[in-house]
Amino acid sequence: MKIGLFLHEGRRALGVVEPDGRSVRLDTTGLDDVRALMAGDSRAVLKLGPVRPLAGLTYLPPVTPARNIFCVGKNYAQHAKEFNQSGFDATSKGKDAHIDEFAAIFTKAPTCLIGHGAEIDSHPAVTQQVDYEAELAVIIGKDAKSVPRERAYDIVWGYAVCNDVTARDLQQAHRQWFVGKSFDTFCPLGPWITTADEVDPENLNLECRVNGELRQQANTSDLIFDIPSLIQTLSAGMRLLPGDVIATGTPAGVGIGFDPPRFLRAGDVVEISIGGLGTLSNRVK
Ligand code: MG
Repeated sequence: MKIGLFLHEGRRALGVVEPDGRSVRLDTTGLDDVRALMAGDSRAVLKLGPVRPLAGLTYLPPVTPARNIFCVGKNYAQHAKEFNQSGFDATSKGKDAHIDEFAAIFTKAPTCLIGHGAEIDSHPAVTQQVDYEAELAVIIGKDAKSVPRERAYDIVWGYAVCNDVTARDLQQAHRQWFVGKSFDTFCPLGPWITTADEVDPENLNLECRVNGELRQQANTSDLIFDIPSLIQTLSAGMRLLPGDVIATGTPAGVGIGFDPPRFLRAGDVVEISIGGLGTLSNRVK
C-alpha cells in the first residue's frame, strides 16, 4: 500500500494511492496521522472515498514524527570519500580516513519537514551553500527497545524518499550538524509511504536529478551501515517510537562533491526517485 497525507478542500486527509500512481482514494473518517494505522487500533480503519486524480492535491509530509528525524552521515563509501575530501567535514579524522567504525548519527528538527511539491526555502540571508542529499527514509511502526538486527525489519512500517537538505557553510562552522540541517523546509519527505510488505529495502535504485541532470545514482545495497544495524544501534539504549523516521544517508554526487561545488540556486528543481517508492520533487524558492 502507498499511503500519503494530502490537503483537500482545506482539510488534511490520508489517502491510498492507486496502483497507477496518478490517482488516490482519500479517507473520509477524518484521520490525518498515519501513526493511527500503526497502532493496530481497530477504530483506525480507513474508509476510502472515490478515486480522484492526484494532480491538483497538495502533498503534506506523509508522517508526523513525535520527535527529531534520525539521520545517518557518511553511509555510502564514495560519498564518505567525497565529503571527507571536500573540506566541509569538520569531524574528519584525516584525508584518507573516510569510513568510520561507528555510524555518524545526527538529527534534524521535525519542523523542517515538507511534502512533495512544496518549495525549499534557500534562506539567502543565512546561508549561501544549500545542498541536496537524496536518501532512503525508514518509517518505524512499533514502540521497541533493544531490537537485535535479526528482528529489525519487524518494526519497520514503510519507506519513503527523503532529501536531507543541508546548509554546508553552517554544517562546517558549527561542527555539530543540527543547525545547518534543520532550517525550515530542509526535509522534503514523500511523496507517500510505501508499506514494508511491498519493498526490498536492500536493493533499491536511487537517483537524484537537479534540473533534469543526473547527479546521484546508487543502490541501497551499498549502505555501509545497513538498516538492521542502524535499528540495532539506535534502539540499544533508546526506545524507538511509531512514526520515527531514519534517513539512511546519501550516496556520492552531492553539490560539494564537485570542484567547484555546485550549490542549489533559486529556481532549481531537485527530483529524487527511488525504485518503487516514487519521485520526490521540490523547487528551490
Ligand atoms: Mg544526509
